[in-house]
Amino acid sequence: MLITLTEAARRIKATNKILITAHVQPDGDAIGSTLALMQMLRALGKSAQIFIDDTVRKNLHMLPSFEEIRRPKPDEKFDADLMVVLDTSLDRIGNARKLTDAPIVNIDHHVTNKGEGVDLYVETKAAATCEIIFKLAAELDATITPEIATCLYTGLATDTGFFQFSNTRAETLAAASELIKLGVSPHFISEQLEKKSLAEVRGLSAALNSLKMFYGDKVAGMILDHATAKTFDSTEGFIDEIRVIETVDVAFLLTEKAPNVCRVSMRSKGVNVAQIADKLGGGGHVRAAGCTLKMPLDEAEKILVAAIGEAVDN
Ligand code: AMP
Ligand code: MN
Ligand code: MN
Repeated sequence: MLITLTEAARRIKATNKILITAHVQPDGDAIGSTLALMQMLRALGKSAQIFIDDTVRKNLHMLPSFEEIRRPKPDEKFDADLMVVLDTSLDRIGNARKLTDAPIVNIDHHVTNKGEGVDLYVETKAAATCEIIFKLAAELDATITPEIATCLYTGLATDTGFFQFSNTRAETLAAASELIKLGVSPHFISEQLEKKSLAEVRGLSAALNSLKMFYGDKVAGMILDHATAKTFDSTEGFIDEIRVIETVDVAFLLTEKAPNVCRVSMRSKGVNVAQIADKLGGGGHVRAAGCTLKMPLDEAEKILVAAIGEAVDN
């Protein structure tokens, strides 16, 4: 059921033991929004705990209270009277789903989130879940400390490609401006987030070497096999290097995370890649979406390229 942000705030205010989670393969928005909400709720005297069922890329470990994030053990239970799921629908939270049977409030900005079986506040025009949590702070009468501001700003910055993507709107910049007034240091966050390990840069080089063009150069793709992919822990930003090719509408990165587990990232300048991802069992936004294909790499490439081809021709 769709709910308003005020209703989401009311549900949160009415409870005391709150479990917070976000999607696997967490990005700056997932980590930033959960950390910000946890800190707000604790300052309001509530018990709040984050569980994320994945490892987190090193660049985000600098965020305030990062060490508080726990990873659920396979059959772990957690005593909570509300679960808040941020930046995703429920199908991407891994074992966090099994921690409790408490009611769920889901807050998200993905168009593909249909809110099946949960109370959902979805604002698809919000650039990031952090933009929504910024507004939720006012509804909760929560104080935004410099630490909370740093977490929220990180989500705004990462989901908008540092305020460059088409999801950047006036409210995004207004929120960012307010967060800077509250103590955020934008250059500190940018310097932390742009850091890459040597292995990652070598991985980027391997990815660029794998570049393939399709459909009259309208589609560009990079393919990383498991032997290469396992040598570094993040492909964040790789796809942006080929998205810029002037003829390209759709760019993709296909990464063999493990044998028969292929992770797809897509970016577009016009085609609705959320629809392509949705068809392949994933989701996302019109211009940035993804999915995981559980099959051998060469088969995944064929299926993906065919699905993109249908959309590009339309
Ligand atoms: P990425 O390419 O990983 O940066 O993801 C691009 C966008 O698509 C992000 O907003 C993700 O949250 C979303 N996304 C990626 N993979 C999936 C998936 N398997 N299911 C739903 N949304 C996804
Ligand atoms: Mn995210
Ligand atoms: Mn997001």
